[in-house]
Amino acid sequence: MGTFPPVNSNPYVHPSKNLKVLGMEESLKRYKIAIVGAGPAGYFSAQALQNSETEELSFAIDLIERLPTPWGLVRSGVAPDHPKIKTVSKVFEKVATHPNFRLFGNVELGTDIKLADLIERYDVVIMCTGSSIGKKLGIPGEDLPGSISAAEFVPWYNGHPDYVFADVDLDTEVAVVIGAGNVAMDCGRILALNPVELDATDTAEHALEKLHASQIRKVYITGRRGPEHAAFTAPELRDLPKLEHTDVYMDAQAIEEAHSRALASAVDGEIEKEIRNNLEAMRIVATTEKKGNERSLEFRFLSAPKEIRGEFKVEEIVFGINEIQDGKVVDTGETYTIKCGLVISAIGYEALPIEGVTFEKGKILNEEGRVPGTNIYTVGWAKRGPSGVIGTNKSDASDVVKLVVEDLGEPKDSEDVTTLIDSEIVIVDQAYWERINAAEIAAGEPLGKPRIKEVSRFLLLSLGQN
Ligand code: NAP
Repeated sequence: MGTFPPVNSNPYVHPSKNLKVLGMEESLKRYKIAIVGAGPAGYFSAQALQNSETEELSFAIDLIERLPTPWGLVRSGVAPDHPKIKTVSKVFEKVATHPNFRLFGNVELGTDIKLADLIERYDVVIMCTGSSIGKKLGIPGEDLPGSISAAEFVPWYNGHPDYVFADVDLDTEVAVVIGAGNVAMDCGRILALNPVELDATDTAEHALEKLHASQIRKVYITGRRGPEHAAFTAPELRDLPKLEHTDVYMDAQAIEEAHSRALASAVDGEIEKEIRNNLEAMRIVATTEKKGNERSLEFRFLSAPKEIRGEFKVEEIVFGINEIQDGKVVDTGETYTIKCGLVISAIGYEALPIEGVTFEKGKILNEEGRVPGTNIYTVGWAKRGPSGVIGTNKSDASDVVKLVVEDLGEPKDSEDVTTLIDSEIVIVDQAYWERINAAEIAAGEPLGKPRIKEVSRFLLLSLGQN
């Protein structure tokens, strides 16, 4: 049995109700649910299950997470200069206070516990394993040193233990980010801002040090389609003029042309709300007075990456120039080149395949969250692909949990999962995690930071030891 200090001696007792006194023990059905992945989709699934409990229905939830730290992308994805987005972790911690909830951190599916065992011992298994692999561009030169994916860069600056040693070379003046989504925006902004703006954040210490020494002064964010097609969201665009030490450039004429095209193709003369808001925010960026900062961030649209060139490492990137004809994006055949030493592709993610589940097009093969013919369900990016903001997972989880409840049969009478986990494995339960969390927060306090993230698994486990 693994090193698991149980929160109470029988974690499957229904919360605070003396059922015998109420005479309800016979009508109450308790189901064991395993949720794999302690990111937003995992916690929102647990929350949706807790909200579905009735006097007849209760859920004993085990949340299994391969890292010693929970919160998924809230810890290792959300940009450190966006601390407000991270306050959703308060919701996660509230979910974790439910007496029928257990965290199994530092337990990896496939290595420390098999999916087949979860399927057998639990009534329901909900896969919330996300998408962690960066999509490939499929262009020559993509594998040159200096060309990396946002799937490495983002967890690197956020202190994910697996990416501490990612090959991030900031010893160059110009960086190019490929993609016109919010991840590209985060990467571009982190590279282009003055790192003093990150000093009071929870940016990983190794990354902060390297960002302070960075030679990068010019960053391009590039989209292959027009501004009207960009996947950025308006709040992120509206934040750009607030950068104190970075001038942000967008071509005002390109935004006006995009507006005209959007208007021409709009139904009933009304441009779709998101597009309208985005274009309005872009107009503000384009027309905001530049301060002559030495750091700049420039957006280039209608630029399709064709080739990354360099002898031993990235030296330049070639873009094909696109144009829009009759609403369609067309390659003009013309190209332009940007000399640069770093290329980051932020063009979306795919799920890492997991033994025992079928994956198709980078996500778990599922029907609205049900994995047909099994007791497996899926929520979040593993289910729908890498789309939506953190809150999107709340409605997603609630929809899938409705199906879970609809499908429930008789609860299983199975042995507790802890008997399957090797005794050598240190299981990070909620109390253990709370000690890690408190230690990180305490370390940040004297420096005015929300926390200092520990980035080694070993040291994370040491931090939380009693
Ligand atoms: P995304 O929003 O899907 O954007 C991906 C971008 O990559 C698109 O502009 C896409 O262009 C482009 N792209 C795809 N393949 C390409 C190729 N071969 N060559 C050039 N460009 C290519 O994905 P994301 O930025 O990874 O974000 C994932 C999700 O997380 C999104 O829902 C996002 O809003 C969310 N997120 C939110 C925040 C926040 O709220 N602050 C922060 C980060 C992420 P096309 O449209 O032309 O395909």
